[in-house]
Amino acid sequence: MPVRSQLEITSCEATSDPHVKILRFRNLGLKDFEPGQWLSLKQTIGEQELVRSYSLLTKDADAICIDLVDGGLMSSMLFDTQPGTRLDFAGPFGAFRLPKPVPRELLLVGYYTGISPIHCLLEDLAAKDIACSVQVATVGPPGIWPMDRELKALSQASTTIQYHRFDWNELTPFESFLDEALTKQPFAMIAGRTAFVKSVQKRLKHCGYTRNQFAMERFG
Ligand SMILES: Cc1cc2nc3c(=O)[nH]c(=O)nc-3n(C[C@H](O)[C@H](O)[C@H](O)COP(=O)(O)OP(=O)(O)OC[C@H]3O[C@@H](n4cnc5c(N)ncnc54)[C@H](O)[C@@H]3O)c2cc1C
Repeated sequence: MPVRSQLEITSCEATSDPHVKILRFRNLGLKDFEPGQWLSLKQTIGEQELVRSYSLLTKDADAICIDLVDGGLMSSMLFDTQPGTRLDFAGPFGAFRLPKPVPRELLLVGYYTGISPIHCLLEDLAAKDIACSVQVATVGPPGIWPMDRELKALSQASTTIQYHRFDWNELTPFESFLDEALTKQPFAMIAGRTAFVKSVQKRLKHCGYTRNQFAMERFG
């Protein structure tokens, strides 16, 4: 059940990508969160009341991953947030969740900070030791994929998680990976910028996928 409450920022961490930061926070009221869901953050900047959505990054619902969008009002404000700041939120929201029971074959794809809900899902799956085979793909700027170290560690600690990284400037290898992965008809979950998510959706449909065989989260 969504609630309205506040969260208190505990740290604002730089990453190897100068456009991405991790905001960690103390949750002051969020309940009944399911991995893959998002919060709606509300902030007044000048005369303007902004409301924006951010996917939860961790299974404990205590962090978000922010992409500094060019000219972006909320993302710039979040980038400069200091520990101790309280932010209003509503949530959790969204249907970007694993089906129950969890399918035996999963394909999880994150484009840039779209890896945030994917990381959350994967962390949860690993903690619960759910028996399923997971192909995880990240697409982003090579060498600085968001959450790369954490995703590598999760896959190295597991015999069932396979982690793949792709350069967003050269998508042919990703397309080949996708075609190969889809031969096993995994349940597919794709998150990130709209154009990318739509292109994968088109591929899924081409391969005969119906709406209940995949989930999407479009970041704008
Ligand atoms: C369900 C959902 C989950 C999301 N989760 C995350 C998340 O985990 N991390 C995250 O960083 N963002 C996430 N977003 C995007 C986020 O809600 C904001 O849209 C983003 O932070 C930009 O807001 P802004 O106020 O900074 O930019 P605005 O002031 O709204 O826009 C400034 C300019 O940037 C363009 N723009 C808006 N959003 C994006 C974008 N995502 N990428 C590129 N250009 C954009 C606009 O068209 C406009 O031209 C999510 C969006 C949705 C709908």
